[in-house]
Amino acid sequence: MLVAMTTAARHAVIYCRISRDHTGAGLGVDRQREACEKLAAALGLIVLRVFVDNDLSAYSGMPRPQYLAMLELLRRREASYLITWHPDRLCRHPRELEDLIDVLEQTATTVKTCVAGDYDLGSPDGRTYARILGAMARGESEHKADRQKLKTQSIATAGGWPGGTRPFGYDPQSGAQVPAEADAVRSGARMIIEGQSVMAVMRAWNDLGLTTTFGNRWARSPVRTTLMRPDLCALRIYNGDEYPLTWITEPILDRDTWEKVRALLTNPQTSVPHARTRLLHGFLYCSGCGGVMSSTVANEKAAYGCKADDHGRQCPRRVSIQAPQCDDFVRDEVIAKIVRSPEVTAKTPDSETAEIKAQISAVKRDLEQLQNDRDSGHYETARYYKRYDLLQGQLAALGERLTASQAYPVLDDLPRDPIALRVLWDAATVDWQRAVIASSVARIVILPAVPGRRFDNGRISLTPR
Ligand SMILES: [Zn+2]
Repeated sequence: MLVAMTTAARHAVIYCRISRDHTGAGLGVDRQREACEKLAAALGLIVLRVFVDNDLSAYSGMPRPQYLAMLELLRRREASYLITWHPDRLCRHPRELEDLIDVLEQTATTVKTCVAGDYDLGSPDGRTYARILGAMARGESEHKADRQKLKTQSIATAGGWPGGTRPFGYDPQSGAQVPAEADAVRSGARMIIEGQSVMAVMRAWNDLGLTTTFGNRWARSPVRTTLMRPDLCALRIYNGDEYPLTWITEPILDRDTWEKVRALLTNPQTSVPHARTRLLHGFLYCSGCGGVMSSTVANEKAAYGCKADDHGRQCPRRVSIQAPQCDDFVRDEVIAKIVRSPEVTAKTPDSETAEIKAQISAVKRDLEQLQNDRDSGHYETARYYKRYDLLQGQLAALGERLTASQAYPVLDDLPRDPIALRVLWDAATVDWQRAVIASSVARIVILPAVPGRRFDNGRISLTPR
């Protein structure tokens, strides 16, 4: 018994709370915890348990399960010290403070804080001071809503209308909609939701004689960007936070529609114009910067292009090439190569395939978790989409690698006759065709176009495997 008590006398619990209120702002739970652990070590205490509550609004008064579990542990007298970052991590309300004082008094627990030193609730003076502090924190919480509103307004006004390019669909002078453009955005959003492509929206807008606010004909990429702009539902996204755009009198889209369109346009499966152009997506390298080229659209035709500038990387050439001709050339080269070289290509080790599959499962789990977090309200839309885009991108890249690495055995079964191979090729799926390319080609580099020439096979530099 004596031993147990002596041990408990050196035992501490740590309590961390994630919140957006004043002293918690910008201080992640890891840093709170780290500081508390350091303090425990400095005091020669043994940390028995760390309790963490995710309590994004201190004002909400939601129950804190970990906090309650911690009080239980203290009531059982299993620890004599409570360590926290700041007293305000413990109590959000005068009522909670009174309960805490009761527990601490009954159990003679000492509270240590990282930034406010000892939190003395054992003496009348200490308790009075704590009550004043608590009342101040409470006032802070109550004013927070007002302060947030002011901050939002100042950011929205300061950054609202930057001048220069007019946002498509709005007249920034009056904040009103430009009727023809707003109608086009709404019908474009409808088309996307109904499963039509960005190309189809682009054609519709060009057919209506609409131009970008620079006065250019619409191309695929600006249409896509325009349909995803947060100002369509009167939002501004700044540092991942959302602010209402007060200068817009009437948003063009409702929030729900905008989110649907945004989700559809960030899905890699729908962002490729049509299956035909996917054949070499991710296989071609730009000779200007060495970057991977993506399927895209140039002059309203399917193409592969260097996306360097979209990703903050510089490319002096931004090479692009027409997709159908390039697809046909690579197909013919691949068939010729297979016919020429009957030896079986080495298979990717199973361990590598397993590794990629494990990574894919991990990303899929992350996506599920993200969805759950979002459903339970732990993600703002902007942050959610940022993470969603990132994970979908990873998934797409891993999928490409898996397809390529699983592809090697494909060559074993192929006929070595060019006509039979061509028949097989034309009947096959794009995935199969991509697998065959992956197993027989090491690298395809696209050289810059020579002005005036329509299509030149010489621009495709193909290194067989
Ligand atoms: Zn490039």
